[in-house]
Amino acid sequence: MKAVVFHEYGGADKLRYEDVPNPSPQPGEVLVRVKAVALNHLDIWERMGGSPLPHISGSDISGEIAKLGDCVTGLKNGEKVVVFPLTSCGHCEACLLGRPTQCEHRQIIGNQTNGGYAEYVTVPAENIFPLPEKLSFEEAAALPLAGSTAWHMLVSKGHVDATSTVLIHGAGSGVSVYAVQLGKIFGAKVIVTTSTEEKAKKARDLGADHVINYLNENVVDAVKRLTNEHGVDIVIDHVGAATFNESLQALRMGGKLVSAGVTTGKKIEFDISFLYRNELIIEGSYIYTMGEFYQVLKMASEGRLKPVISQVFPLSKAAEAQRTMEEARQFGKLILKV
Ligand code: ZN
Repeated sequence: MKAVVFHEYGGADKLRYEDVPNPSPQPGEVLVRVKAVALNHLDIWERMGGSPLPHISGSDISGEIAKLGDCVTGLKNGEKVVVFPLTSCGHCEACLLGRPTQCEHRQIIGNQTNGGYAEYVTVPAENIFPLPEKLSFEEAAALPLAGSTAWHMLVSKGHVDATSTVLIHGAGSGVSVYAVQLGKIFGAKVIVTTSTEEKAKKARDLGADHVINYLNENVVDAVKRLTNEHGVDIVIDHVGAATFNESLQALRMGGKLVSAGVTTGKKIEFDISFLYRNELIIEGSYIYTMGEFYQVLKMASEGRLKPVISQVFPLSKAAEAQRTMEEARQFGKLILKV
């Protein structure tokens, strides 16, 4: 089969479109003929040194079942599917306590295992969801990681409700385009940051109440102005070093910063006294549960949550797609069509 593989770590030029042996499903697994796979920042971390070698990235997969491994029941060949990208062991203390996102043995399909930048991929049968009728393969692939992360951050960790005001950084990111929509679905007031008028317009079209252009205006000053000097209840921050301090300063007393990424760097200095004097809460969010994905998929299949696709590339152009992501030129998800 054709696949996009890297044999050494480095830049997007390390991605090779080449022939590799077809994978074969083990007992309990399913072989999926990939139709679409979405990009995530995770793919870039893998390529920079975060995965085994050689490696095929791709965590957000949709396609058709091509073959069932032994002991798989309830699924059939040719069925259209979308893949939940997270596996947990089911046996450790975190799993037994109903917290699979904290499982010691959690894995993301396409991260530690080979993923969907390929014509075929094997996945555990329990990770298969039927493709909702109203969604295309590309739309379904645009949902799992970003949509479920947005749900985990804003709904499960942030406890967003109709009284909340939310600040979401980087309007064009995959997580942000779903966080904006979820914020509005739950009745919150949503403020986003971005750097271009084009992205600002798209964010407003998704429902954002206010857009701050961080190149023209100090984000904290703008948030204070928009909230009668109170600050926001929740900040969704996947940007990292560049925004962490302004995220804290944008919170009202007792507000919560939910952190889920470091696209601009990992390390910062911050004033601990500002944290405790204002009774702020900082919460980490790494992954999400199958139940959260189910709710995202259900809302999308009912047309209440819109999959946001920035651009579709053929599989052979994976390097170009990853460069688009590295330069933050997208609004929503970048998809490879297989
Ligand atoms: Zn576990």
